[in-house]
Amino acid sequence: MISVDYHVHSSFSPDASNEMRKMVEKAVSLGLREIMFTDHFEFFSDGRPGNFCSDENYVSFIAEEALSLRSEYSDRIYVGLGLEIGQMQFALKKSEEIIGSYPFDFILASYHKVGDVDLSRYDYLKTDIKSLVHEYLSGLLCIAQSANFDSLAHIDLIKRYAHRQNVEIKIEKEEALVRKILKTLVDRGKFLEVNTSSMRQCFEEFFPSDKILMWYKEEGGEVVTIGSDSHRTDDIAEDFDKAEKLVSALGLNVLKNYRRNRGMYET
Ligand SMILES: [Zn+2]
Ligand SMILES: [Zn+2]
Repeated sequence: MISVDYHVHSSFSPDASNEMRKMVEKAVSLGLREIMFTDHFEFFSDGRPGNFCSDENYVSFIAEEALSLRSEYSDRIYVGLGLEIGQMQFALKKSEEIIGSYPFDFILASYHKVGDVDLSRYDYLKTDIKSLVHEYLSGLLCIAQSANFDSLAHIDLIKRYAHRQNVEIKIEKEEALVRKILKTLVDRGKFLEVNTSSMRQCFEEFFPSDKILMWYKEEGGEVVTIGSDSHRTDDIAEDFDKAEKLVSALGLNVLKNYRRNRGMYET
């Protein structure tokens, strides 16, 4: 059984519902050994006024609460301090400062906003999909090549939002570029995330698809991180049984006990 969830949002994230303590209690009740909080930190505001998830006080509140719960629940579960940083390829220096200011266990890198427009806000029926996908994948490649992180999150996220508008996107059509991202992760010692949230959104595969996971393996990838991307207690560790079957069928291992500052991990 996969006993770690490496992508969880607490109510510190503006799009999440439950406070950290409730998330930890639910994880304990499910028998998890680790819960890794990866609340959002976003570069760029998507046109919103002020800073959206990019205030440093906000990170200090997250760190304080996670570390406090870690000690309180230390006999039952490890409460990990992580962060999901969006668009870090455009703010490498600032990312380093934030990452260096707190004792993070794990950094997830994401690309949510192409051209400072959140992927959820595009009109996919009126957008040139081929160029948008190319720009999106080029941004992911830039993150993979240049940023300081541990795992690349939901690399086919763009499918989710297009699907809501009945537009089906296959990033697999850009095989050479996708493979280049995967190879770069392997060469730089970074991991690829298997994000199970797709199953809750009417997809029949995880993010990424089985095909991309096979390419990751072919490019030399051995280890994945598994995350539910839950924004509420009910979704923690959702569909991990299916993820476990798939990952082991592909001969991949699941990351656990990862502590980036201590250079330790197990699979
Ligand atoms: Zn995300
Ligand atoms: Zn997330």
